[in-house]
Amino acid sequence: MRARGGYRRPRKIFERSCSVGRTVGILCNSWSFLILRECLFGARRFQTFQSILGLPRQTLAIRLKQLTSQGLLRQAQYSERPQRSEYRLTEMGMDLYPLFLALLNFGDKWLAGKSGPPLQLFHRSCGRACTPVVACSHCGKGVDAAHTTYRDGPGAGTSPLNRTKRNRRQSEHTLLEKRRPCSVARSLKIIGDYWSFMVNREAFFGVRKFDEIQTKLGIAPTILTDRLGRLVSEGILAKKKYQDLPERFEYRLTAMGKDLYLPLIAMLRWGDRWLSGDAPPLILTHTICGHDFDPAVICNKCGKPVEARAMIYELHYKNPMA
Ligand SMILES: [Zn+2]
Ligand SMILES: [Zn+2]
Repeated sequence: MRARGGYRRPRKIFERSCSVGRTVGILCNSWSFLILRECLFGARRFQTFQSILGLPRQTLAIRLKQLTSQGLLRQAQYSERPQRSEYRLTEMGMDLYPLFLALLNFGDKWLAGKSGPPLQLFHRSCGRACTPVVACSHCGKGVDAAHTTYRDGPGAGTSPLNRTKRNRRQSEHTLLEKRRPCSVARSLKIIGDYWSFMVNREAFFGVRKFDEIQTKLGIAPTILTDRLGRLVSEGILAKKKYQDLPERFEYRLTAMGKDLYLPLIAMLRWGDRWLSGDAPPLILTHTICGHDFDPAVICNKCGKPVEARAMIYELHYKNPMA
């Protein structure tokens, strides 16, 4: 029997099937995400990645190889003599663009500081400076957590939790902005850690109490305490007392935390499309129009869908090495 409040590591833990978890598994390596970011900016060659990101050659080579084997990048030869090849985004990699924009939006809104967002986007199709927004594919209106419900899809269920390497927090976060400020990097500092993201996901599912979160995720109490502490200090969660005798607390999403919804569903959409075959584990319903929807990223000025090729960036990286 388990002692009240005690923790015993179960033999095998099952987690809710959710594309977000699978997607984070691929993307929670911060360097991988930054390489993909540079690809979306048009970088293709080893030397370009290296000079922008300042990674050791070996680390960069390993990451590029990994991203290629995961199907996000492909190698293409651009010179025969000497033989040289470059890395290009596959369709799967290109499809990360809405997620990238959702993280960018979040960082711009909450983490940009006094100097404002470091990156300005222009939509080529309408020619205007724009902010991409996540919208309902059915009615075209913006979506947020308060107006979305979910239900199990055909791929719902649980799958064995793979524990490997997840308990170790990625220590690379401090390096993310070494070369240039970036709202995506700032957002990743908060949610680019597997457990932080999973705790947030549970918060969106309405799981708010320590014991409940621990049970759902099969997370060790020390790690959960650490992540909850971080998320509270970063302003994502607020610790609220819900009972006096005995004193009990729960963790609720703040306004800032609720805005993580868009990166979360962008991950969900990407994972559903590329990692779960034809059976999405979750189906989202937009309560404003009453229809099931896919999250779509549209331009806030013209309302048309945005994609990487149709965007121009104006970089405000004035003092990148400062
Ligand atoms: Zn709708
Ligand atoms: Zn536009």
